[in-house]
Amino acid sequence: MAKLKVVQCWDDAPYNDLRLVEILRKYNAKATFNINTGLLVEQRRKPFWFDYKNPDYSVGYFNNFYPGKLTLKDIKEVYDGFEIASHCHMHENASTMPHAEWIKKAVQAREILEDIVQRPCRGFAWPCGDYTPETCAELRKAGFAYGRTTKYIDFVTDNEDAMALRTNCHFMNYQFFQKYEKAKECGVFYFWGHSYEMLDYDKYWDLLEEKIAYISNDPDAEWCNVIDIAPLCDGKNK
Ligand SMILES: [Zn+2]
Repeated sequence: MAKLKVVQCWDDAPYNDLRLVEILRKYNAKATFNINTGLLVEQRRKPFWFDYKNPDYSVGYFNNFYPGKLTLKDIKEVYDGFEIASHCHMHENASTMPHAEWIKKAVQAREILEDIVQRPCRGFAWPCGDYTPETCAELRKAGFAYGRTTKYIDFVTDNEDAMALRTNCHFMNYQFFQKYEKAKECGVFYFWGHSYEMLDYDKYWDLLEEKIAYISNDPDAEWCNVIDIAPLCDGKNK
């Protein structure tokens, strides 16, 4: 029987990705990182907790935690050996701007990334998970291989359109392993998330590491890149 192809992707390039890539490298796990090239900073910004006695309102928080940010210069080294993909330039939402203008932002991020890594970056993740039929068509026309949404499907090979690609689950889904086993029926398992969702809570990081270790040690599974499974998840190509 063919091995289960396991793919994962992570969004927004927070400083927390440094801890994530360490875990992934430890287990030889492949992954794709979806990057907003225009939101990277000049100097690395470390994570910190909101402090009401000394509040910093210049950054955005996730559950009172600022997950930090990487720099454009970091991309090549931090994500070396991983796939990187466009997540628009400034996290532009496809449902709230004219689609001709929007697609330029998706392509702009891709061109900046391709310039840095000197190879094609044909992956895409929809900012906020929002897309429209028009922007899906634009994405395909612009040569992207897929556009990952925040919607879910049991068998990712049943996706009707890789430009509106649904995954199996979020990495923190408590039914992660049930979904993983079920996915063996179709041959591909895809999960996603943001490393900032693990904050600086060791328990969250340990739970992720257990999943990555389990998959790496599963003789019936192999890590793949999203770009490699995209054609299998494109009803429009079948
Ligand atoms: Zn995002």
